[in-house]
Amino acid sequence: MFDHQCTACEKRQLIFPSQVTSMVNTDAGIVVAFTCWCGAEQALVTGKKTVSTSKVALAA
Ligand SMILES: [Zn+2]
Repeated sequence: MFDHQCTACEKRQLIFPSQVTSMVNTDAGIVVAFTCWCGAEQALVTGKKTVSTSKVALAA
């Protein structure tokens, strides 16, 4: 769950996991696509790069 300012309705609202339509891991971060409460398709790139959990698992 995160908050997002919609580019269509310009409201800052909470986005719930049920509104997320896709999550794509890219070099720039995770691109999260979701549908705003107003029905507009939105996309958000998270700033955080996820550390590979598989490497952590291998090291353990
Ligand atoms: Zn909206």
